[in-house]
Amino acid sequence: MGFNLMSVGMMEERGAEVSFKRGMSIIKIDEKISACGTRKNGLYHLHMAPMSDVAAVASLKLWHERLGHVNVAGVKRMIKNKDVDGLECTSMVVKDICEPCVYGKAAMTPIPSAGGVYVTRRLQLVHSELWGPMSEPSRGGALYFGMFTDDFSRWTDVVFLHKKSDLFAEYKKWLTKAQLHTGIKIKVLWSDNGGEYVSSAFKALQDGNGTTHQTTVPDTPQQNGVTERLNRVLVKMARTMMRHKDVDQDLWADAIKTSVYIKNRVTSRALLVGKTPHGLWTGNKPNVSHMRVFGSTCWVVLHKSHIDGKFGDKAAKGIFVGYPDGSKAYKVILDDGKFVKARSVVFSENTSSKVADVLENSTVEDVVEGETGLDAGSDDFDVDAKDDGGDNQQNDGSDTSADDNQGSTRAQDTLRRSGRSRRPPVEYWRPVNLVAHRAPMTYGQAVQGQE
Ligand SMILES: [Zn+2]
Repeated sequence: MGFNLMSVGMMEERGAEVSFKRGMSIIKIDEKISACGTRKNGLYHLHMAPMSDVAAVASLKLWHERLGHVNVAGVKRMIKNKDVDGLECTSMVVKDICEPCVYGKAAMTPIPSAGGVYVTRRLQLVHSELWGPMSEPSRGGALYFGMFTDDFSRWTDVVFLHKKSDLFAEYKKWLTKAQLHTGIKIKVLWSDNGGEYVSSAFKALQDGNGTTHQTTVPDTPQQNGVTERLNRVLVKMARTMMRHKDVDQDLWADAIKTSVYIKNRVTSRALLVGKTPHGLWTGNKPNVSHMRVFGSTCWVVLHKSHIDGKFGDKAAKGIFVGYPDGSKAYKVILDDGKFVKARSVVFSENTSSKVADVLENSTVEDVVEGETGLDAGSDDFDVDAKDDGGDNQQNDGSDTSADDNQGSTRAQDTLRRSGRSRRPPVEYWRPVNLVAHRAPMTYGQAVQGQE
């Protein structure tokens, strides 16, 4: 029930810059937005947490959403076993049914791990498959997406294509990066025998690289299993995330790319207990502290050079649509339709506006799996649905800009950087809270006599 009041005067005294415009307030410290608020009944309600390690601490439900609606039991296990870094949780209680989950993945059932070849190292076996055409092009004009999945680590890269024949060029780029990253040559590539995989150029590339290319025989589940299952998982995750925040359909490529990003960073039933694709592919535990709910409303802090005159807006509103390769930043589509990559972003991950950063009240009861709707039918992320045949039709949408096609090396770079730039608990947030406790003095507060 409690809430905090902030004194503008005290914040100003401590070096914060507070501006008010069109019913909105923006609090900046050291040129970084630390909070935004909107006016309600004469008070400015701060309804989002800052991009910071403070914001990284979230409820189990919020982590469930940030991680693409992965199974709650799986999130809890990752927290308990410390399988990934940065997964800090305030409350292990989930009470409400997660509606997007109910709609998005009602038919999930656990799947057995892939049989067949015994794989002991990276790039010993790679699965690739092309999906599409989607029923509408992505915003960037893509109609297809191709995936490259390393069997050993289950690390996946996704590329978006305007036409099938673009796959060759993308595979070539991916191959170079993957081999550079691992220092290993790919031994066996499995794909179907679609035309894009059996061209003479493709064959020449494989021969030159010493790769055995095996095309799958139709209806051999153990061969097709990995990519088909992965595709269904990713599409379901993308669909659930899009539904959750009512994201435009033509942003499907961003949703798929984000699903891949998430999937690479969570444990999987296909792997040994506690292992993530990221961990096996890069050798480092993933850190997820920067991750936010796909499709959330957010505000990008504008660089000085973009601010229009003295009283121009200092932040631009948009929708968070993913994690660009190669930089610790957020990809945002602004209200004017422009895609930007930004580091300083303030998120409103909860649909309902809340006063500032109030922690959820925890109660003693634990999650009752199955009753929440979050665990529908399985206890891990890497679960699959019976073939419902409708996946490809549902997810149409957009594409992402050029960064969609970056491969694993840059993705790894992202991670390395995010590790390096991890900061201690943010300084600019704490003094503000302190001020709030020390100076409870606006009229509403004074009248009500709370805090
Ligand atoms: Zn959910």
